[in-house]
Amino acid sequence: MTPDHGSLLYEGKAKRVFSADQPDRVLVEFKNDATAFNALKRAELEGKGRLNCQISARLFEMLEREGVPTHYLGLAAETWMLVQHVDVIPLEVVIRNVATGSLCQQTPIAAGTELSPALLDLYYKDDNLGDPLLSESRLQLLGLISSQQRLEIEQLARRVNQLLLSFFESLDLLLVDFKLELGLNRAGTLLVADEISPDTCRLWDHRNSDPQARILDKDRFRQDLGGVIEAYGEILKRVQGV
Ligand code: 5GP
Repeated sequence: MTPDHGSLLYEGKAKRVFSADQPDRVLVEFKNDATAFNALKRAELEGKGRLNCQISARLFEMLEREGVPTHYLGLAAETWMLVQHVDVIPLEVVIRNVATGSLCQQTPIAAGTELSPALLDLYYKDDNLGDPLLSESRLQLLGLISSQQRLEIEQLARRVNQLLLSFFESLDLLLVDFKLELGLNRAGTLLVADEISPDTCRLWDHRNSDPQARILDKDRFRQDLGGVIEAYGEILKRVQGV
């Protein structure tokens, strides 16, 4: 089912954004397209859009219940979400609870090292530049956010990490790391935007000790492990509590 929507405002790798009935709201359609390594690797995965939309909705609802402001307003269809219009801050906030991925490619930190407190890094969101990691001085040089906003972003992201970490833990899932995108609504409030899904989080299954079988996130696609949709389906089942 496709909900009534206005014109296409923006098309990204995994989602399309359309205008809605009010200027401060937009409709987001989750696509089946999967990309990795800055879109060098691509595939169409039947059902991925629905799974990410539904998983994201449940996670945004949980965060809202806990008092975290997000752009989420409600589901509009199986693959569609109604959200507040925000000016997205072109930063990717990455929080890591366990070392893996690019951290281990770029530093001598051993894979699997527990990171406590969680490591928080900001990346500049720009595909053409390959989303580079920002130092504090480069962040200041870019002037994208004030130092007050920098603090607010870190506090919000750490709170989201605590909430997601315990929520997933209760579902026998380890939140290894994840990426958040944040935006400012019309009132200037900082909101969690974009999506929170196995495309943007690394999630390992506590019910499985096999280092490959326990992966229930986009690494299955990145590493050609197969079973991507089955893994995302398992995450949806657990977040829905069924
Ligand atoms: P890494 O820096 O190790 O590649 O990624 C760290 C975490 O952030 C992973 O959970 C990964 O899925 C997420 N992440 C980082 N950059 C992106 C991105 O551009 N797109 C998506 N979907 N996730 C990202």
